Amino acid sequence: MKKMFSVLLVIVLVAGFGFANGGSEASGGRQYVTIGTGGVTGVYYPTGGAISKMVNQKSDEYNLRVTVESTGGSVYNVNAIMSGDLEFGIVQSDRQFQAYNGTADWDGDPQKKLRAVFSIHPEGVNLLASDESGIYTLEDLRGKVVNLGNPGSGHRGNATQLLEAAGIDPDSDIQAEGLKAAEAAGMLQDGRIDAYFYTVGHPNGSFKEATSGTKKVHFVPLEGPVVDQLVAEYPYYAKSVIPVTSQYPGATNDGDVPSFGVKATFCTSADVPDDVVYAIVKEVFDNFDEFKSLHPAYAILTPEDMLTGLSAPLHPGAEKYFKEVGLIK
Ligand code: GLU
Repeated sequence: MKKMFSVLLVIVLVAGFGFANGGSEASGGRQYVTIGTGGVTGVYYPTGGAISKMVNQKSDEYNLRVTVESTGGSVYNVNAIMSGDLEFGIVQSDRQFQAYNGTADWDGDPQKKLRAVFSIHPEGVNLLASDESGIYTLEDLRGKVVNLGNPGSGHRGNATQLLEAAGIDPDSDIQAEGLKAAEAAGMLQDGRIDAYFYTVGHPNGSFKEATSGTKKVHFVPLEGPVVDQLVAEYPYYAKSVIPVTSQYPGATNDGDVPSFGVKATFCTSADVPDDVVYAIVKEVFDNFDEFKSLHPAYAILTPEDMLTGLSAPLHPGAEKYFKEVGLIK
């Protein structure tokens, strides 16, 4: 009987901890949370690192430790946040919109517990091709070996949507690959793929690597009626420019290249406690200049800008901070 009581007590205590911390793990009162990012040659991974660095400097004050995980990307991150495997994730603004509203990957299954925290850097939809492939327009992709991105990535959806809008069937008109972005640069240089899509901020390690090898490569301009129609139809798309001249001088383009894109956003679940979200938001925004110095993709960020591009409701912990500093009413 006594033994049974102890077992029950342990169960109650463990369950209590889990509840009080909304899925984040607690040990000795300290909360441990994890941010899901993307591949190691993208911008999400260093972004997770930048956010965790800001907060972990004050670990003792907040009794909070933030760790970072490399993941498959946006779609994976949303699903892992919703299942409680991750407390936070970096998610493309279009995936945030689709997950919350129950479209695309979440068709008929809206993720109503998804919460927005803030948005971060802009991400372009980019298509990089080898010169020898002869790919200079979307039409040229027909019959070619094209990496759309790994399942779970955010860019796979952009690549598929763009091809379909251009009347190109990803299943039959091209030889579609599902490689991780971290592998794609080397595969392009080795001539094993002709081109790859990657929705990502600039500069990033993948394009640095792919544009500095011996094989000549270039960014394919994404413009014209197909892109115009996507930007007009979807609220999360905006036109953008790939900073080729300043960031990827090894590419054979003559200058910067037109494209379109989305924003990276920082997301969580309604189940994550307010004080955890508040601490993270406070550290990033109170020390904004330090945060901005951590990656060149943040150069253009302003605090006001980081509240745009969000479609899920703001998490109350973030809302509290933004109200305190007057960023929202
Ligand atoms: N946008 C990509 C995705 O959602 C990741 C980009 C990055 O890692 O910077 O999968």
